[in-house]
Amino acid sequence: MKICVIVKRVPDTEANIKIRTDKPDRIDESEISFIINPYDEFAVEEALKIADEKDGETTVITVGSKESEAVLRHALAMGIENAVHVTDNEESDPFRTAFLLGKVINDKGFDLILCGKAAIDDDTAGVGSMLAENLGLAQVLVVTKVEIAGDGKKVVCHRDIEGGTMVVEAPLPAVISCQKGLNEPRLPTIIDIKRANKKALETFDSKSYLEGFSGPRVKIGKFTSPPPRPVGKVLKGDSGTAAKELAKLLREEAKVI
Ligand SMILES: Cc1cc2nc3c(=O)[nH]c(=O)nc-3n(C[C@H](O)[C@H](O)[C@H](O)COP(=O)(O)OP(=O)(O)OC[C@H]3O[C@@H](n4cnc5c(N)ncnc54)[C@H](O)[C@@H]3O)c2cc1C
Repeated sequence: MKICVIVKRVPDTEANIKIRTDKPDRIDESEISFIINPYDEFAVEEALKIADEKDGETTVITVGSKESEAVLRHALAMGIENAVHVTDNEESDPFRTAFLLGKVINDKGFDLILCGKAAIDDDTAGVGSMLAENLGLAQVLVVTKVEIAGDGKKVVCHRDIEGGTMVVEAPLPAVISCQKGLNEPRLPTIIDIKRANKKALETFDSKSYLEGFSGPRVKIGKFTSPPPRPVGKVLKGDSGTAAKELAKLLREEAKVI
């Protein structure tokens, strides 16, 4: 069974994001560190789990700048066998990313394509869906359990919905987007990381795949930061007095009770 995982490089969840003053449609990347998109780690872990059970072969693919290589290395350190880097520095959008991924994946004969439910930075949750559409495959999104069934011909997935679980079947090949709760991603050891750093990557320039592409569809206008949080209040007096004052503030100021 051939399994593909697509992964994105995103700012660290701890990063203090600042918007560029010269380009309000971009963030200032100079002082932040980057990580593999956390939802993509669930996808990597699931690929490894299924590959173990089904004697599968695993490949990770990213579209992005030279620096995106680090997320491929992270997936390799977790245990993925092959890595493909589509180097790209151009103005993009999820439609373009899905187009490029579709072209790269098209002739590779994968049985299963796993992605994260959304990238935590741009958060469009669009790439997986658009990729499935480009490849003419079934898509099952935001899943919390994946089982290969029917002699490897279909996939059975669980999706958490309000008040219950939806069980969905789809024929393979299919695109599955992974949600928190699916598994517990493994932590690579130092030896895994060293081994992964020595592995060869397959690298392509995005330009070789853009023939027939009509251009990105969505343009970011600008980013704005949320308003600063108001300063907290310290309630004085004994606990009874403070509790009464708190109830009053919650009712009259915050209007939450
Ligand atoms: C220079 C530049 C300009 C940009 N301009 C715009 C713009 O004008 N409008 C706009 O909408 N976006 C723009 N982007 C953002 C970028 O194109 C999107 O972030 C990207 O297409 C993915 O969308 P997303 O992050 O919302 O992914 P989602 O759809 O939320 O991601 C879902 C899943 O898809 C997979 N995935 C996502 N991205 C990749 C990737 N690159 N490689 C492999 N797998 C991936 C991952 O598994 C991820 O968990 C720009 C980016 C750059 C570098």
